[in-house]
Amino acid sequence: MARYTGPVCRLCRREGAKLFLKGDRCYTDRCPVNRRSYAPGEHGQMRKKVSEYGVQLREKQKARRIYGVLEAQFRRYFEKAEKSRGVTGEMLLQLLERRLDNVVYRMGLAPSRADARQSIRHGHFTVNGSKVNIPSYLVRVGDQIAVREKSREMAKFKEAAESIRGRAIPQWLSVDADTLTGSIVRLPNREDIDVPIQEHLIVELYSR
Ligand code: SF4
Repeated sequence: MARYTGPVCRLCRREGAKLFLKGDRCYTDRCPVNRRSYAPGEHGQMRKKVSEYGVQLREKQKARRIYGVLEAQFRRYFEKAEKSRGVTGEMLLQLLERRLDNVVYRMGLAPSRADARQSIRHGHFTVNGSKVNIPSYLVRVGDQIAVREKSREMAKFKEAAESIRGRAIPQWLSVDADTLTGSIVRLPNREDIDVPIQEHLIVELYSR
Protein backbone atom coordinates (compact mmCIF):
# COMPACT_ATOMS: atom_id res chain seq x y z
CA MET A 1 0.00 0.00 0.00
CA ALA A 2 1.32 3.42 -0.96
CA ARG A 3 2.33 5.85 1.74
CA TYR A 4 4.33 9.05 2.13
CA THR A 5 8.02 8.27 2.72
CA GLY A 6 9.56 11.76 2.69
CA PRO A 7 10.79 13.78 5.68
CA VAL A 8 7.87 14.01 8.09
CA CYS A 9 8.92 17.06 10.11
CA ARG A 10 8.56 19.13 6.92
CA LEU A 11 4.87 18.19 6.94
CA CYS A 12 4.40 19.66 10.41
CA ARG A 13 6.26 22.82 9.46
CA ARG A 14 4.16 23.14 6.31
CA GLU A 15 0.98 22.93 8.38
CA GLY A 16 2.40 25.24 11.06
CA ALA A 17 1.40 22.74 13.76
CA LYS A 18 2.79 19.75 15.59
CA LEU A 19 1.24 16.68 13.99
CA PHE A 20 3.10 14.23 16.28
CA LEU A 21 4.40 12.01 13.49
CA LYS A 22 7.68 10.96 15.12
CA GLY A 23 6.84 9.53 18.50
CA ASP A 24 8.92 10.58 21.50
CA ARG A 25 10.92 13.22 19.64
CA CYS A 26 7.74 15.26 19.18
CA TYR A 27 7.63 15.87 22.92
CA THR A 28 11.18 17.21 23.17
CA ASP A 29 12.66 20.60 22.28
CA ARG A 30 14.35 18.93 19.29
CA CYS A 31 11.01 19.24 17.49
CA PRO A 32 11.65 21.53 14.47
CA VAL A 33 8.25 23.22 14.89
CA ASN A 34 9.52 24.63 18.18
CA ARG A 35 12.73 25.85 16.60
CA ARG A 36 11.60 26.98 13.13
CA SER A 37 7.93 27.80 13.18
CA TYR A 38 7.69 28.80 9.51
CA ALA A 39 6.97 26.72 6.42
CA PRO A 40 9.91 24.82 4.87
CA GLY A 41 11.60 25.88 1.64
CA GLU A 42 13.06 29.04 0.17
CA HIS A 43 9.84 31.07 0.50
CA GLY A 44 8.73 29.57 3.78
CA GLN A 45 9.09 32.82 5.71
CA MET A 46 7.11 34.94 3.21
CA ARG A 47 3.75 36.16 4.44
CA LYS A 48 1.02 35.07 2.06
CA LYS A 49 -2.68 35.87 1.96
CA VAL A 50 -4.49 32.54 2.06
CA SER A 51 -7.77 32.14 0.19
CA GLU A 52 -10.83 30.37 1.62
CA TYR A 53 -10.01 27.41 -0.62
CA GLY A 54 -6.43 27.47 0.66
CA VAL A 55 -7.60 27.30 4.28
CA GLN A 56 -9.88 24.34 3.50
CA LEU A 57 -7.14 22.58 1.55
CA ARG A 58 -4.62 22.97 4.37
CA GLU A 59 -7.09 21.50 6.85
CA LYS A 60 -7.61 18.45 4.66
CA GLN A 61 -3.86 18.03 4.16
CA LYS A 62 -3.32 18.29 7.90
CA ALA A 63 -5.84 15.52 8.56
CA ARG A 64 -4.32 13.31 5.85
CA ARG A 65 -0.87 13.80 7.30
CA ILE A 66 -1.84 13.14 10.89
CA TYR A 67 -3.39 9.80 9.95
CA GLY A 68 -0.88 8.98 7.18
CA VAL A 69 -3.49 8.52 4.47
CA LEU A 70 -3.00 9.31 0.78
CA GLU A 71 -5.49 11.40 -1.20
CA ALA A 72 -7.47 8.63 -2.94
CA GLN A 73 -8.02 6.70 0.25
CA PHE A 74 -8.90 9.86 2.16
CA ARG A 75 -11.51 10.65 -0.48
CA ARG A 76 -12.99 7.16 -0.04
CA TYR A 77 -13.27 7.75 3.71
CA PHE A 78 -15.08 11.00 2.99
CA GLU A 79 -17.53 9.30 0.60
CA LYS A 80 -18.20 6.61 3.21
CA ALA A 81 -18.73 9.28 5.89
CA GLU A 82 -21.18 11.12 3.63
CA LYS A 83 -23.27 7.97 3.26
CA SER A 84 -23.37 7.15 6.96
CA ARG A 85 -25.85 8.50 9.47
CA GLY A 86 -24.48 11.42 11.48
CA VAL A 87 -22.52 14.60 10.89
CA THR A 88 -20.24 13.98 7.89
CA GLY A 89 -17.14 15.65 9.37
CA GLU A 90 -17.43 13.71 12.61
CA MET A 91 -18.06 10.44 10.78
CA LEU A 92 -14.94 11.10 8.72
CA LEU A 93 -12.82 11.52 11.85
CA GLN A 94 -14.42 8.45 13.39
CA LEU A 95 -13.48 6.35 10.35
CA LEU A 96 -9.90 7.61 10.53
CA GLU A 97 -9.76 6.81 14.25
CA ARG A 98 -11.04 3.30 13.62
CA ARG A 99 -8.04 2.40 11.47
CA LEU A 100 -6.04 -0.35 13.14
CA ASP A 101 -2.77 1.64 12.96
CA ASN A 102 -4.42 4.54 14.79
CA VAL A 103 -5.94 2.21 17.40
CA VAL A 104 -2.57 0.56 18.08
CA TYR A 105 -1.05 4.04 18.50
CA ARG A 106 -3.90 5.26 20.70
CA MET A 107 -3.56 2.18 22.91
CA GLY A 108 0.09 3.06 23.45
CA LEU A 109 1.35 -0.10 21.74
CA ALA A 110 3.41 2.04 19.32
CA PRO A 111 5.02 5.49 19.74
CA SER A 112 3.55 6.87 16.50
CA ARG A 113 1.03 5.91 13.83
CA ALA A 114 3.89 5.29 11.38
CA ASP A 115 5.52 2.89 13.82
CA ALA A 116 2.17 1.19 14.43
CA ARG A 117 1.72 0.80 10.67
CA GLN A 118 5.09 -0.88 10.33
CA SER A 119 4.48 -3.26 13.24
CA ILE A 120 1.11 -4.26 11.79
CA ARG A 121 2.65 -4.82 8.36
CA HIS A 122 5.26 -7.07 9.98
CA GLY A 123 2.49 -9.23 11.41
CA HIS A 124 2.92 -8.41 15.11
CA PHE A 125 -0.81 -7.90 15.80
CA THR A 126 -3.96 -9.97 15.96
CA VAL A 127 -7.60 -8.91 15.90
CA ASN A 128 -9.98 -11.33 17.60
CA GLY A 129 -7.23 -13.96 17.59
CA SER A 130 -6.37 -13.78 13.87
CA LYS A 131 -3.28 -12.14 12.44
CA VAL A 132 -4.11 -8.87 10.67
CA ASN A 133 -1.39 -7.12 8.67
CA ILE A 134 -3.54 -4.41 7.09
CA PRO A 135 -2.99 -1.01 8.78
CA SER A 136 -6.25 0.39 7.34
CA TYR A 137 -8.35 -2.43 8.86
CA LEU A 138 -11.40 -0.75 10.46
CA VAL A 139 -12.04 -1.94 14.00
CA ARG A 140 -15.54 -2.51 15.40
CA VAL A 141 -16.98 -2.37 18.90
CA GLY A 142 -15.90 -5.44 20.85
CA ASP A 143 -12.82 -6.20 18.73
CA GLN A 144 -9.90 -7.59 20.72
CA ILE A 145 -6.51 -6.27 19.62
CA ALA A 146 -3.34 -8.03 20.80
CA VAL A 147 0.39 -8.15 20.22
CA ARG A 148 1.06 -11.67 18.91
CA GLU A 149 2.36 -13.99 21.56
CA LYS A 150 5.69 -14.58 19.89
CA SER A 151 6.25 -10.83 19.41
CA ARG A 152 5.63 -9.90 23.05
CA GLU A 153 9.26 -10.37 24.09
CA MET A 154 10.50 -7.79 21.58
CA ALA A 155 12.14 -4.75 23.21
CA LYS A 156 9.75 -2.29 21.61
CA PHE A 157 6.71 -4.02 23.07
CA LYS A 158 8.32 -4.26 26.49
CA GLU A 159 8.92 -0.50 26.29
CA ALA A 160 5.32 -0.02 25.17
CA ALA A 161 4.07 -1.95 28.21
CA GLU A 162 6.02 0.41 30.49
CA SER A 163 4.76 3.54 28.75
CA ILE A 164 1.13 2.36 28.86
CA ARG A 165 1.28 2.14 32.66
CA GLY A 166 1.99 5.86 32.93
CA ARG A 167 -0.37 7.30 30.37
CA ALA A 168 -4.04 8.02 29.83
CA ILE A 169 -5.81 5.89 27.24
CA PRO A 170 -8.85 7.29 25.37
CA GLN A 171 -12.10 6.23 27.02
CA TRP A 172 -13.38 4.39 23.96
CA LEU A 173 -10.49 1.91 24.32
CA SER A 174 -9.25 -0.38 27.06
CA VAL A 175 -5.73 -1.77 27.37
CA ASP A 176 -4.00 -4.31 29.58
CA ALA A 177 -0.28 -3.54 29.81
CA ASP A 178 0.55 -6.96 31.28
CA THR A 179 -0.87 -8.96 28.39
CA LEU A 180 -0.38 -6.27 25.70
CA THR A 181 -4.01 -6.63 24.66
CA GLY A 182 -6.83 -4.16 24.31
CA SER A 183 -10.38 -3.84 23.14
CA ILE A 184 -12.77 -1.40 21.51
CA VAL A 185 -15.24 -0.39 24.22
CA ARG A 186 -17.31 1.88 21.96
CA LEU A 187 -16.85 3.98 18.85
CA PRO A 188 -15.20 7.38 19.46
CA ASN A 189 -17.29 10.53 19.43
CA ARG A 190 -15.91 13.98 18.59
CA GLU A 191 -14.94 14.74 22.19
CA ASP A 192 -12.74 11.63 22.27
CA ILE A 193 -10.75 12.70 19.20
CA ASP A 194 -8.08 15.19 20.24
CA VAL A 195 -6.79 16.14 16.79
CA PRO A 196 -6.45 19.86 15.95
CA ILE A 197 -8.72 19.65 12.90
CA GLN A 198 -11.74 21.71 11.94
CA GLU A 199 -13.50 18.96 10.03
CA HIS A 200 -16.22 21.25 8.68
CA LEU A 201 -13.55 22.88 6.47
CA ILE A 202 -12.83 19.48 4.88
CA VAL A 203 -16.53 18.94 4.25
CA GLU A 204 -16.73 22.39 2.63
CA LEU A 205 -13.72 21.60 0.46
CA TYR A 206 -15.19 18.38 -0.90
CA SER A 207 -18.61 19.99 -1.34
CA ARG A 208 -17.29 22.60 -3.79
FE1 SF4 B 1 6.20 17.08 13.83
FE2 SF4 B 1 7.15 15.44 15.69
FE3 SF4 B 1 8.78 16.36 13.74
FE4 SF4 B 1 7.89 17.98 15.70
S1 SF4 B 1 9.26 16.20 15.92
S2 SF4 B 1 7.96 18.46 13.53
S3 SF4 B 1 5.78 17.21 16.02
S4 SF4 B 1 6.99 15.02 13.48
